[in-house]
Amino acid sequence: MELKFVADQNVGKLAKLLRIMGFDTLFFDGEDDANIIAIALAESRIILTRDTQIMKRGIVTSGRLKAVLIESDKPEQQAHQLINTLNLDRQSKPFTLCLECNQTLLEKSKEEVKERVPPYVFKTQSQFMECPNCKRIYWRGTHWQAMSGMLKKFAKKGE
Ligand SMILES: [Zn+2]
Repeated sequence: MELKFVADQNVGKLAKLLRIMGFDTLFFDGEDDANIIAIALAESRIILTRDTQIMKRGIVTSGRLKAVLIESDKPEQQAHQLINTLNLDRQSKPFTLCLECNQTLLEKSKEEVKERVPPYVFKTQSQFMECPNCKRIYWRGTHWQAMSGMLKKFAKKGE
């Protein structure tokens, strides 16, 4: 089954890292715990939070709703904790989601993006993706490599 998440506002950066890895992750910016729980239940999402109160709720302790208590306040450590406890490595599909909108990216041909990317990018890259929502163009450029490297580093720590 595909893992989906809803990240509490106290782990916002972690939400972005999960999107980099291709995991459908909603960002919850409300105040009321009842709302994040309702979203998680309705959409079968795992709650990610640093809030111990959520972890004490009956629905979580009984196992009817899955939640992960994130231990560290550092995004790298948080990613490391999750990758290792849920074996995210094996299921990750990097660069399939928009980092801003959590939407599935669509493949675009070179010609389609010609007017919308810098000339050197057009010349050097062959694979392009577009977010159907915000229309951002993504490509397998240097920043993608940097992110891949970062993810590998997270996964290796503590092995
Ligand atoms: Zn987008």
